[in-house]
Amino acid sequence: MMKGWMKCGLAGAVVLMASFWGGSVRAAGISLKQVSGPVYVVEDNYYVKENSMVYFGAKGVTVVGATWTPDTARELHKLIKRVSSKPVLEVINTNYHTDRAGGNAYWKSIGAKVVATRQTRDLMKSDWAEIVAFTRKGLPEYPDLPLVLPNVVHDGDFKLQEGKVRAFYAGPAHTPDGIFVYFPDEQVLYGNCILKEKLGNLSFANVKEYPQTIERLKAMKLPIKTVIGGHDSPLHGPELIDHYEELIKAAPQS
Ligand SMILES: [Zn+2]
Repeated sequence: MMKGWMKCGLAGAVVLMASFWGGSVRAAGISLKQVSGPVYVVEDNYYVKENSMVYFGAKGVTVVGATWTPDTARELHKLIKRVSSKPVLEVINTNYHTDRAGGNAYWKSIGAKVVATRQTRDLMKSDWAEIVAFTRKGLPEYPDLPLVLPNVVHDGDFKLQEGKVRAFYAGPAHTPDGIFVYFPDEQVLYGNCILKEKLGNLSFANVKEYPQTIERLKAMKLPIKTVIGGHDSPLHGPELIDHYEELIKAAPQS
């Protein structure tokens, strides 16, 4: 079950020097790269590689995915400050798991709001200790982080940055609560842990309903130029949606 949770070779090598060129900044374990206009992708190579996103708005910055820990969040914040001096206004927990909410304590400490749906907040409250224990079983170096809940909770789908960042729920998939985030002006869809190149960990997945959730996403007929996979390599076209749907349909149902 934990075989996919391999420690990345870069993990632990904390080099705080970051360099800037073009639309891309890097530190040892994390990079921040422009996708389109104000939409940037984060490649976080700590623990199991995860990809998050950053939106540079007119008044401030929205981070999509808190990254793994307060330390990885701090490292990302250093990269964000090299692109913009505007404050981080808010951070979205796109599901209740450690790769999407582990950095919450750092983001709150700099005054950012931590935003989630009520479903994610409630699951985090009930199951945080379990997901930390699960993470540490596969990744013993992962810290035993205390629960830090979102402080802005939405009953359903929500929009940030005056509608330029749209978070929506399409059904159970990788977790019961995972959301997609869509950037309409750039036609970029963030696939969260739901869409990625490889099947990934299904320990908390609803394998039966997962394809129906992807079908609901497709039925929305969003104009999409780019899909960001939440793990593995980040940059894809809309074909990533069908690719993962085929993978999950072929997965054994437990
Ligand atoms: Zn994930």
